[in-house]
Amino acid sequence: MEILDGKKISEQIKEEIAQEVSAMKERGEKVPHLAAVLVGNDGASLTYVGSKVRSCEKIGFESTLVSLPDTTTEEELLVKIKELNEDASIDGFIVQLPLPKHIDEQKVLMAIDPDKDVDGFHPTNFGKMALELETFIPATPFGILELLKRYNVETSGKNTVVIGRSHIVGRPMSILMSRKGFPGDSTVTLTHSRTKDLKAFTKDADIVITALGSPDFLKADMVKDGVVIIDVGITRVPDETKPKGYRITGDVDFEEVAPKASYITPVPGGVGPMTIAMLLKNTLLARERHNAK
Ligand code: NAD
Repeated sequence: MEILDGKKISEQIKEEIAQEVSAMKERGEKVPHLAAVLVGNDGASLTYVGSKVRSCEKIGFESTLVSLPDTTTEEELLVKIKELNEDASIDGFIVQLPLPKHIDEQKVLMAIDPDKDVDGFHPTNFGKMALELETFIPATPFGILELLKRYNVETSGKNTVVIGRSHIVGRPMSILMSRKGFPGDSTVTLTHSRTKDLKAFTKDADIVITALGSPDFLKADMVKDGVVIIDVGITRVPDETKPKGYRITGDVDFEEVAPKASYITPVPGGVGPMTIAMLLKNTLLARERHNAK
């Protein structure tokens, strides 16, 4: 069994990006600039946005945090997005989800200029992804592809089962794994909460990608020997023995499943750190594409 070490690989990727940024500076070019829009003060969102901004600073990007109160109207947010679309100094930006209930998330994501949509959530970019055209691949799926690539995990002709059909992880992952090339060329089954007899699918899978948000959901009796496990789940489980009063748990019962797996991502330290690294990668790509225009 080999651990797919997202922490280590994400550090490597960030180091590679930092070197590229230094080279850009030496050539007298503008460095990539990422903006993050945060509406309200949801604890988890604050943590995520904070670490995205800090990562930018560490690798030499410019970053801007646009922090808006939770009373912000949809109209006000759309005005802010228009400003960011038109601001030539900003290469890419993200709107941290979830948004407060009174704001239509889809409408907001649709308002982002696809050329600056480094989260890859705009329908134009999602469509391009499905058509195997140059685009921004959503950061979490992009991170999974990169992990598979750097560990040279065979995906061609394999049976891949994705659990969860969210627009940000499960659905794009199912598309990406079926695309031509490496990593891809898999035969993909996308499963979800209405799937009957999930175990019948996972038992037969060479690769299982879990993105449902249900702690320790995938058990050893649900997979075959030699399976590749990608655990996207992040759930805070109350734990009084931890300083924060909780621990982070994935969708996979790691203790049980790891001995049967050929490769497995741990939680934490697997897919999570890759997500930020690939957001930075997308921002670098945005900068390079703007330069090339
Ligand atoms: P979501 O919460 O939007 O949707 C969950 C999906 O799981 C749904 O499609 C649902 O049909 C499916 N599902 C629920 N119960 C099921 C069951 N019993 N059997 C089969 N399918 C079932 O999903 P999301 O936003 O993709 O998040 C999933 C998990 O991944 C969460 O824990 C989230 O925190 C985590 N996440 C992690 C990262 C990261 O960077 N590592 C990024 C995004 C999400």
